[in-house]
Amino acid sequence: MFIFDAHLDLSMNAMDWNRDLTWSIEEIRKSEQGLTDKPGRGNNTVSLEAMRQGNVGLCMATQIARYVHKDNTLPGWKSPQQAWAHTQGQLAWYKSMEEAGEMVQIINKNQLDDHLALWKTDEEKKPIGYLLSLEGADSIVDVSYLQKAFDSGLRAIGPAHYGPGTYAHGTNSVGGIGTKGRELLKEIQRLGIILDVTHLCDLSFWETMVNYDGPLWASHNNCRALVNHHRQFTDEQLKEIIARKGVIGVVLDAWMMTPTWERGVSTPESANVSLEQIIDNIDHICQLAGNTNHVGIGSDLDGGFGKEQGPADVDTIADLQKISGLLEKRGYSNNDIEKIMNGNFITFLEKNLPN
Ligand SMILES: [Zn+2]
Repeated sequence: MFIFDAHLDLSMNAMDWNRDLTWSIEEIRKSEQGLTDKPGRGNNTVSLEAMRQGNVGLCMATQIARYVHKDNTLPGWKSPQQAWAHTQGQLAWYKSMEEAGEMVQIINKNQLDDHLALWKTDEEKKPIGYLLSLEGADSIVDVSYLQKAFDSGLRAIGPAHYGPGTYAHGTNSVGGIGTKGRELLKEIQRLGIILDVTHLCDLSFWETMVNYDGPLWASHNNCRALVNHHRQFTDEQLKEIIARKGVIGVVLDAWMMTPTWERGVSTPESANVSLEQIIDNIDHICQLAGNTNHVGIGSDLDGGFGKEQGPADVDTIADLQKISGLLEKRGYSNNDIEKIMNGNFITFLEKNLPN
């Protein structure tokens, strides 16, 4: 079954982790033996080849670069201009993957339709389709930069990532969106970019709801009712996204899947983390919605972790295919499964991409 993944950090892996994603999973793992500079070295689960094997033919692919204020200790660039330049390097990598025939960028409805049609053929090496998404908006130096980003194909944006940002407060911080955040939301809405509410802290989330009524989704978010942490959305927040016709992508990061996960201590096996908990999250969202129209997959499988912090039954991204069988076991119909694996996000894009 065709899979749409609403959250992958492909260019971060290429440009910040020095991974050549045209290599096989095994080659990348082997090349990282003995490296300790980042967590999850040698445990990667994502490559372009593995995506093809798993029929993950379309994704939201991020640009990501944090700007940190002088008095903040989070890792990041010292100025928004440096952060912007870093995202432009990431964009250059995506463009070179297009020239190599590995990927293809999608910026409008027609290209989306053409790409979906291509993946129905048995063409041998199909390019992975991607739409650009910005995770955390700190690299938007001022609101005028959003037009430049849109012109480069940016189609979704999350105002914050971790910590306090220029335009909103993200995970592990508390605060509102301020004047700059309101200005950004206005420009997002004017340009018709999809707002990604993932990572907004509760206060910023609810302030955003008051100041924005354009299209929105949560690309990679699980349920607080199942794992009680502020990174997850409460039932009220999920219902708000559903009421606004949004889609929530469930995420495969182990600590967001089980309440017993201890960082640096637990293993997927010891904590019993498996795709079953992903099905629990999908089912919870479907129960809140009263239908199967508002949930999809935003795996985040290359988001700064690897096999050591994912479900035990996922060796590579191709294992996302197992989700359909597990949904079937829980009584989901074929039609429902298709919507969850790709249809809900694709329908959303059909409605909200430019012509
Ligand atoms: Zn994230």
